Amino acid sequence: MSNPSLLILAGDGIGPEVMAEVKKIIAWYGDKRALKFDVSEDLVGGCAYDVHGKPLADETMAKAQEVDAVLLGAVGGPQYDNLDFSVKPERGLLRLRKEMDLYANLRPAQCFDALADFSSLKKDVVAGLDIMIVRELTSGVYFGEPRGIFTEGNERVGINTQRYTESEIARVARSAFELARKRGNKVCSMEKANVMESGVLWREVVQKVHDEEYPDVQLSHMYADAGAMQLTRWPKQFDVIVTDNLFGDLLSDLAAMLTGSLGMLPSASLGAPMANGRPKALYEPVHGSAPDIAGQGKANPIACILSFAMALRYSFDQGTEADRLEKAVEKVLADGLRTADLMGPEGGSPVSTSAMGDAVIAALDASL
Ligand code: NAD
Repeated sequence: MSNPSLLILAGDGIGPEVMAEVKKIIAWYGDKRALKFDVSEDLVGGCAYDVHGKPLADETMAKAQEVDAVLLGAVGGPQYDNLDFSVKPERGLLRLRKEMDLYANLRPAQCFDALADFSSLKKDVVAGLDIMIVRELTSGVYFGEPRGIFTEGNERVGINTQRYTESEIARVARSAFELARKRGNKVCSMEKANVMESGVLWREVVQKVHDEEYPDVQLSHMYADAGAMQLTRWPKQFDVIVTDNLFGDLLSDLAAMLTGSLGMLPSASLGAPMANGRPKALYEPVHGSAPDIAGQGKANPIACILSFAMALRYSFDQGTEADRLEKAVEKVLADGLRTADLMGPEGGSPVSTSAMGDAVIAALDASL
């Protein structure tokens, strides 16, 4: 059988720096766990624009459609800020998400014990936190028509439309229920059924998918505004949260920040299963290209490393190896290693991007 395939799109700024550490880890799995990947690399974002005049070449898009998973670093930078909207680096990422039809965005909010003091919330509220937000990514108010700024009488009106079909709701609900079965078996669905018809439909469809296909999973419903309050009051009550594009955008940022630094946050975007049963998938850190620290060896590679752990778990059914990698990260943090973004006000001496990657490899070695 051929090896699973990975397309690496490191991108701009700190993207290539953090991805270099992931490449070491991919090599480690090949050498030490006989888990080999066929890895190819290509350009996305500003670096693709520099070469092709657009942020994602058609050939790169075609490759992304063929591989088992895409790993992306980050895109963007100040030198591209004045480009036309149609060729801005971010358009490359949007094209990938759209053409691969990645409708389920998974954002874990996990608090490593060693970083519990780093949260703006009290330690006992966040220590041990492990929740997953599933955000619908390809529909809803960011895409609905009509949209635009129109003139009505003597003033302008800005219009966006919240629109969801039953099938769009059902497929992301299934993603959430499937995930819950591999975790704490609980899903909380969030909408605003009290004031929005799309929310009424959302609630009905999620309930129907549950009753017909996932009756073993515990399901609750919550208004999204109440959900935001509960997330800051006692986040550990949740396991998987499923919500629409707009609420998911806000709630996943809120949940993620419960746990500390942007440099720690991974994500996955999943689509429909391919012929081999694996979902279309793109894994990327939540952070951007961080031009303020690019090229200085200061970037925290953990978000990108944990994104690869998600790939092991969700694309390659390697849950045990994903656990091994997450535990290696946990050990390194417990040992006190910190990149600059994880230094508290008391200071200390931060380690470099590559020293953090090497420490994770050493912890992986120690796990054997
Ligand atoms: P950013 O995430 O790049 O940086 C925000 C702050 O967090 C900066 O101070 C940065 O130094 C810090 N930071 C981010 N990641 C870090 C890491 N791994 N380790 C240590 N510190 C880290 O967001 P921004 O500054 O708003 O945007 C910079 C560029 O990135 C822009 O061009 C933006 O469009 C782009 N961007 C891309 C993505 C993406 O590729 N998915 C996401 C967000 C922003």
